[in-house]
Amino acid sequence: MTAPLVGVFALQGDVREHLRALEACGAAAVAVRRPAELAGLAGIVLPGGESTTMSKLAVAFDLLEPLREAVRGGLPAYGSCAGMIMLADAVLDGRPDQETVGGIDMTVRRNAFGRQVDSFEADLHFAELAGPAVHAVFIRAPWVESVGEQVRVLGTVPGPDGGEARIVAVRQGNLLATSFHPELTGDTRVHHYFVDIVRGQV
Ligand code: GLN
Repeated sequence: MTAPLVGVFALQGDVREHLRALEACGAAAVAVRRPAELAGLAGIVLPGGESTTMSKLAVAFDLLEPLREAVRGGLPAYGSCAGMIMLADAVLDGRPDQETVGGIDMTVRRNAFGRQVDSFEADLHFAELAGPAVHAVFIRAPWVESVGEQVRVLGTVPGPDGGEARIVAVRQGNLLATSFHPELTGDTRVHHYFVDIVRGQV
């Protein structure tokens, strides 16, 4: 099987970890900093990092509109944490001038778990993934406050202080997003799942 070419948005965030995870899943992974580097991609990853900085840099480097067009045109995309925020159609607690690529019909709340705990880890059941629970690392993570009809919820965690369960993994068509960082744990099942989406196998 030929290796699909998957880009990683590389203006900000934990780019290297995603490149490594994608390569481990049989993809050819490349860093993307310029619009021309979107050509020929079979998929793109938006990494964890800081979504307001990503937004600013994407505008400054003329990458935002090309990314929007690519995703609108059907390019499979996966966003982790800040990358999830970048794929959201709507953001709560963002900066007033914060832009997103959008594509997933969801409203995401930035730093949602942040008031209680900045960072935490949890084992969660990830629909679609075989094997043991996914060990999920959350770092000033968003949660998904609401989703549209086309969005499938793939994972939740209990809210802070035993509150209602919060959505932390979703898929809409060939767009995938997680509040947590599978690129940091060495468990490549989520990246595998994305590469399968890119290959049109799931
Ligand atoms: N809090 C960050 C943001 O708003 C996301 C944190 C992360 O990606 N680990 O972009």
